[in-house]
Amino acid sequence: MREIELVFDGRAFPAASVTNHLITVSGRSNGRRWTASKPLAFWRTFAELELTDDAIAGWVARYGDIKSALAPGRSVDTTGWEQLALILALVARAWTKPDDPDGISYIKGEIDAAAIADAARRDVDAPVIFGPSFEPFVHAARLRDFMLVSASFMLRDKTPMRRCAECRHWTAASHAATRYCSNTCRLKAMRKREAA
Ligand SMILES: [Zn+2]
Repeated sequence: MREIELVFDGRAFPAASVTNHLITVSGRSNGRRWTASKPLAFWRTFAELELTDDAIAGWVARYGDIKSALAPGRSVDTTGWEQLALILALVARAWTKPDDPDGISYIKGEIDAAAIADAARRDVDAPVIFGPSFEPFVHAARLRDFMLVSASFMLRDKTPMRRCAECRHWTAASHAATRYCSNTCRLKAMRKREAA
């Protein structure tokens, strides 16, 4: 049986500023659109985030606001960030520590999945939609939903992970050779090697 796919249409705001946990996009910056068509492991990076204004700005620059409500000339507060990080940190406890010799983090065992499910189900917006061949997709409406559903898929699939060798964000390590989270990071690392 084919798996149900997960899709998300995100918007990152490199020009966003954060003051006292209030995220603002000034001017006309419409952000940078990015899409995902499978679960991604950066939810675990979110779980480790120290929620300072700087860290929040960095997150919004790369992935966007967790409520996906940012727009030019608009401010969004960070209510819910801490709660989401707590839930995701509980999921992350299912994996071994990142400092294993091979750098890969594996599912190790029991977590209180029932409590996590209970907390996650309170605020999730991820309906099933149909593709052109009537195939089902889980469509994450907001970044927070994408992270929660990604975590859920990865727990179910016991997906091994490692940190990207370039940006240190978590990435699925389905192949032992996977060292980077994205083409962007792979290219960055290559350019560094060439410049050295
Ligand atoms: Zn990376």
